[in-house]
Amino acid sequence: MVQESRLVDLFLKLLAFNAPARKEKQIVAFTKSLLEAEGFSVSEDNAAAAIGGDANNLIVHLPATDLNAPRVFLSAHFDTVEPTENLVVSEVDGIFRSAGDTILGADDRCGVAAAIEALRCLRDSSEPHGDVYLLLSVADEIGLLGAKQVPIKDLNLDYGFILDTGPPVGTFVTRAAWHDRLEINVHGRPAHAGKEPELGIDAITTAARAISQMRLGRLGPETTANIGLITGGTATNVVPAKVTVLAEARSTDETLVENQIDHMIQCFANAAQSTGAEISVHHHRHYAGYVIDPNSTVVRVAEAASRNLGLSPDHRVTLGGSDGNVYNAVGVPCVVLGTGMDHIHTHAEQITRADLVLTAKMALECLLQSARVR
Ligand SMILES: [Zn+2]
Repeated sequence: MVQESRLVDLFLKLLAFNAPARKEKQIVAFTKSLLEAEGFSVSEDNAAAAIGGDANNLIVHLPATDLNAPRVFLSAHFDTVEPTENLVVSEVDGIFRSAGDTILGADDRCGVAAAIEALRCLRDSSEPHGDVYLLLSVADEIGLLGAKQVPIKDLNLDYGFILDTGPPVGTFVTRAAWHDRLEINVHGRPAHAGKEPELGIDAITTAARAISQMRLGRLGPETTANIGLITGGTATNVVPAKVTVLAEARSTDETLVENQIDHMIQCFANAAQSTGAEISVHHHRHYAGYVIDPNSTVVRVAEAASRNLGLSPDHRVTLGGSDGNVYNAVGVPCVVLGTGMDHIHTHAEQITRADLVLTAKMALECLLQSARVR
């Protein structure tokens, strides 16, 4: 059974590490030595060198007691979206929050703590189970960089559960968006703005024209687009010769995201043609989306786990990313479990003690059900 005091103690210890992406060395070392001291088998991959970080992903293995049961995994990430230097955690009326001006970092230490607690409980139980792995990743928040380095194919896993989205616990994500990014450079021609502006080609005006013609924001129930960053120009007395625009589009329908990207590029091409500027376009897939079959084993296991705990096994959609996008993309089905962490990526981030415990129970129940639901 989930032990509340052991779980909360670990959660608070994990929160104490300041570990934004690529700077997870201390929290990873702490977790590795903790798990090894408890007799778990822990290995590292080579993520640090590959992504320019200071820590590798951790892969924890609990060997099967039932060799016919599926090989499953729980996943969570160490890094936080912002630094949490000098974090002071307050607990008032059973709610954990940051007492100062930082995020709490429950995203995703809630997931890491719950996954470890679930593994501890499973090992100490007499319940049969297949091989279970914890995939504890680094550098999730900067584009799932750590997860992309996990040698997941080598582990020959059947399916898994990602502990990395908000409440309610018991629900889970079966559909997530494709997410593409665009960098567009508009190349104009510089000229003195007072003496001979007609000799210039204004890159800022060109970009403005393009953006004014663009469909942006929420484009459908599960499709969005955004211009996120614009830089350009050199001085008020120079016709601006270069502008760089960074943008994104997301959709749970791959065709819609591609159509939107084409539309955005076309707006720039049209504007450039009208002003005489030129454009260069860099388009890349930030990560692939996924749609999990509602009748698949991983979904049925998550539903059974949720119901067994008296929760509502609702299927959810997200336009955000998680390590699940990476693992699903290489053919290892996984759903993202709702956890207790709420208002993530803001300074209002919080989690209740009760939901932290419930998150660990849900993780454990998924492992137990995976040996029963075939
Ligand atoms: Zn997260």
